[in-house]
Amino acid sequence: MRRKLLLGNWKMNKLASEAKEFAISSKPLVQKAKDAGIDIGVAPTYLSLQAVKENASSDMIVAAQNVHQLVSGAYTGEVSIPMLKEFGIDWVIIGHSERRTYDNETNAKCNAKIKALISNNMVPVYCVGETLVEFEGGLTKEIVGTQVRDGLKDLTAEEVKNLVVAYEPVWSIGTGKNASTEIAQDICHFIREVLRELFGEVADEIRILYGGSVKPENVKAYLSCEDVDGALVGGASLKIDSYEGLLLNIL
Ligand code: PEP
Repeated sequence: MRRKLLLGNWKMNKLASEAKEFAISSKPLVQKAKDAGIDIGVAPTYLSLQAVKENASSDMIVAAQNVHQLVSGAYTGEVSIPMLKEFGIDWVIIGHSERRTYDNETNAKCNAKIKALISNNMVPVYCVGETLVEFEGGLTKEIVGTQVRDGLKDLTAEEVKNLVVAYEPVWSIGTGKNASTEIAQDICHFIREVLRELFGEVADEIRILYGGSVKPENVKAYLSCEDVDGALVGGASLKIDSYEGLLLNIL
């Protein structure tokens, strides 16, 4: 039985003081999620990780939005796994489409990061998804299949069992243009079949999220899809009211 997961991606938003305020206000929500058997979390900027970790309920998942695969060295502007671990962070979003677009995050780079995270007992949330041109060209499964295969290359079934995959069609992120629930189910099911081909039965344990303009009004429809185990939410996770709305609508 896969537990539902609601994860907010704050991107480059919120000062640490604002993140702290959100963390404090989220305590009752996290309790409600826990009581309902739903996992809930947020991914603040690096600078707000500590504020959220220290002020939210200990049941709140606090994820980083990126990490470097090496431990230390001459990589200006980067943050490593031990640096995150020192603050008790053990979830990291990998391969978000904005990082793929603006920071040349390739499938191979994602693979190196995912391997480093897994070998440190951390949870990667691996984002995959096609662009509008690829969608319109009927290439979704080819692109997503390659992202999954290359991003998870050389890993074993045992290693990937706690991994989370997020299907986020690039054309639906921050655009208000949702993928239909049929598309979300079809591609999340396809991802599960690729995972099954790669890793066997463990595919049924791996959580697959949908992301892309998820809001309190549509979250329930996505989570009612058989292969959609939760949502990765950007804009609608920024305000506590709307974050609460997301949760209340799936309880
Ligand atoms: C995201 O950033 O992963 C995302 C899905 O954003 P939004 O919900 O704003 O489309």
